Amino acid sequence: MSVSTKLYEGKAKIIYPTDDPEIFLAVFKDDATAFNAQKRGSIQGKGAINCSISSQLFQLLETRGIKTHFVDNPAPNQMRIKAVKILPLEVVVRNIAAGSLCQQTGLALGTVLKQPLVEFYYKNDRLGDPLLTRDRLLVMELATAEQVDRITHLALQINEFLKEFFQQCSITLVDFKLEFGLDSKQQLLLADEISPDTCRLWDISTQEDADRRILDKDRFRLDLGNVENAYQEVWKRVLKVVEAKE
Ligand code: UDP
Repeated sequence: MSVSTKLYEGKAKIIYPTDDPEIFLAVFKDDATAFNAQKRGSIQGKGAINCSISSQLFQLLETRGIKTHFVDNPAPNQMRIKAVKILPLEVVVRNIAAGSLCQQTGLALGTVLKQPLVEFYYKNDRLGDPLLTRDRLLVMELATAEQVDRITHLALQINEFLKEFFQQCSITLVDFKLEFGLDSKQQLLLADEISPDTCRLWDISTQEDADRRILDKDRFRLDLGNVENAYQEVWKRVLKVVEAKE
């Protein structure tokens, strides 16, 4: 397949068309970016690990009745996906205060939220992915009111499932980002990926050590080292829990 046939290239994935107009191929890259691509690097093996973790989680979510874009894996770093039009929204779910929530509210890092917080950000690099209100989102016609309600409901359901799953991996799910898309029948599907690039994951056994516990992209963002090891560790634990379920 030649590079020129790609439909889209993002920071972490390249999307190619296939012979079937309803199916695309997502190739996960080792490239890593942070701070709106101001920091760039590479995490060896990340593409295959993120694709594998996402694929397992999407398949488990499907068994819980959550519809996703996952089809299958032609290779460890490749996912065939249902063709969807991605809504330009980053849907963030938070269980514990970290990252921009701490910066913007003054809440201390690690504050356990009494209930999960669902937030919508405008997926727009030029504007720096700003936080949206529901009314702004509707005024901008980024989604309909029904879609916002449905996405919020799904995001909370996904959070309940993922929190429990990662608990079994001895990992605390701090927060994560989801993206949704609409297929040709306007059906809402969970899309993109769920991986250490898009989740904050803290190791329960080193919970007291603010740096050592981090098993996600914050190791890259904050130059904490051992980035590859952290991604491999998450994949190892995910696979162990998945295999125990089979
Ligand atoms: N996130 C992401 N992509 C983005 C922004 C955030 O996957 O473009 C994830 C991030 O990894 C974290 C969660 O969403 O798990 C919340 O991120 P936050 O708003 O705190 O922003 P950050 O501190 O990462 O800039």
